[in-house]
Amino acid sequence: MTTTHIAFVTGGSRGIGRAIVERLHADGARVATCGRGDRPAYLPDDVVWEQADVASPGDTERLVARTRDLLGPISLLVNNAGVLVAKTVADATDDDWDLQVGVNCRGVFNMSRAVLPEMTEHGGVIVNIGSISGVVADLSSALYNASKAFVHALTRSIAIDHGPRVRCNAVLPGWIETDMFDEGFALAGDPEAARRDAISRHPAGRFGRPADIAGIVAWLASDEAAWATGQCFTVDGGLTAASPLRPEAF
Ligand code: NDP
Repeated sequence: MTTTHIAFVTGGSRGIGRAIVERLHADGARVATCGRGDRPAYLPDDVVWEQADVASPGDTERLVARTRDLLGPISLLVNNAGVLVAKTVADATDDDWDLQVGVNCRGVFNMSRAVLPEMTEHGGVIVNIGSISGVVADLSSALYNASKAFVHALTRSIAIDHGPRVRCNAVLPGWIETDMFDEGFALAGDPEAARRDAISRHPAGRFGRPADIAGIVAWLASDEAAWATGQCFTVDGGLTAASPLRPEAF
């Protein structure tokens, strides 16, 4: 799938964001990305790297201005950066709230607000990375689950407020093998047993790979998805398609 997008992908240093950067770059997009650390070694020379915290409005304004100067106005924004605070409401601190909501909610708001004036003028696409956790709750991840529900609702609002010039959709991944995935399974009493049990509940027979998400992002960014907007696309290997009732009881 070829593309002429000028794309910004938040959180491109590893995991799903890295796969999205690699896929869009391979498809011909001019790509910029960011993270809180140093430029990752894997990045091709012609991909722009900016060190930034998406929770900071000053940083996100700078990211968008610098990308415009180097590549041109952003036509595709992928809000991928995210963190997981694995706590219940009773255990979460004010700092946990600031981190979880700052990155997963405010980061998506900051970046979207920064690109929308130019996208409204030139046309553009926003793809937000939500989660099945914003629809069905993962244990001990209360603020994370709620932060992803925010992303899904914001997706619909951007689509209805800024269409037809801007299309906005969300991808809701299931369990994708990344550092965040490892953090999630580390919470289980027996992580290996939890993995085996989880795989047995996937009709696709395996966990997801970052490239599985990059593929649907590339499609949503393309003109083939021209009539798709304001929607949440679940890509979870079928995990949430099944009834939660235990099959062995029937
Ligand atoms: P990783 O932890 O592997 O990567 C997260 C990325 O976000 C890193 O590049 C990280 O870079 C960046 N990031 C985190 N905080 C910030 C910040 N404040 N500013 C800028 N960049 C930041 O996570 P995944 O690849 O697994 O997750 C990517 C997205 O997919 C997230 O939104 C996550 O919630 C979502 N998701 C993941 C699932 C999974 O199973 N893996 C399932 C469902 C959704 P750095 O730390 O260097 O800043």
